[in-house]
Amino acid sequence: NEVMDARARHERILETDLRLAVVREEFELRFQPQIDSRNGALLGAEALVRWRRPDGRLVMPSEFVWHAEKTGIINDIGEHVLKVACQEARRWRDAGMQPFPIAVNVSPRQFSTNNFVRVIENALASAAIDSEWLELEVTENVALDTSAHMIETFERVKSLGVGIAIDDFGTGFASLAYLRKIPLRKLKIDRSLVSNITKPGPDKAITEAIISLGESLKFISIAEGVETDRQADAIRLTACSGMQGFLFSHPLSA
Ligand code: C2E
Ligand code: MG
Ligand code: MG
Repeated sequence: NEVMDARARHERILETDLRLAVVREEFELRFQPQIDSRNGALLGAEALVRWRRPDGRLVMPSEFVWHAEKTGIINDIGEHVLKVACQEARRWRDAGMQPFPIAVNVSPRQFSTNNFVRVIENALASAAIDSEWLELEVTENVALDTSAHMIETFERVKSLGVGIAIDDFGTGFASLAYLRKIPLRKLKIDRSLVSNITKPGPDKAITEAIISLGESLKFISIAEGVETDRQADAIRLTACSGMQGFLFSHPLSA
């Protein structure tokens, strides 16, 4: 009971702090490059949120995204993240860089809100950038919801020219039917599978099967969490389009 009280108190404080953090814009972004498996060229970058607390401490998403999702604060955080990601794209564009998609993680709750497409349109318009600069990463849970509202949202996002990637692919699906129901651009293969690509066994078999599936469906496939040269070499033997991981770069400031 005491443990439960402490937990409830922790959650209450966290909620208050998160609401304040939104108002004070305490969220920062890091960007992790995705590179082409064949030639190392930049394929895109994933935007990853960090919370800079007033005491200077940097809080990782694993510590607060679950709570922001639970309380709905994720909608405000997510809107802010989209806005900042588009502003950075604008700076890169102004600096003369060729366009590359910046992948923003979108939580299930955020994706299913009614004004989600408008939030995206606003973020693009206020930074005055083309939609080719933006990509959304959703988890399979989001993609599995093939209700009319969700399919319509996917289609509207697509018609804006914003690509959609399935994040952490290969960890939780019960059905693959959604792959043909929603317009996708990328499959990101989960790190837990990629980390075992060097060992013969089920994870390697599953990873290779996902890569050929992606190839047949004309999706771009990205191996997530590549940490060693041996993993990268094993990935290069497959048709996997790109890689992302500490081997190439940690998430960096803009
Ligand atoms: P994710 O979208 O799957 O992001 C990849 C995570 O793996 C990142 O952790 C990244 O730093 C980490 N990573 C990248 N390469 C490697 C590697 O080689 N080895 C290892 N061990 N890890 C690697 P991070 O930044 O802590 O983010 C964790 C999760 O938090 C993300 O997983 C995503 O689900 C969520 N998240 C991050 N930013 C946002 C956001 O803006 N909105 C929402 N809704 N969720 C976010
Ligand atoms: Mg992601
Ligand atoms: Mg992932």
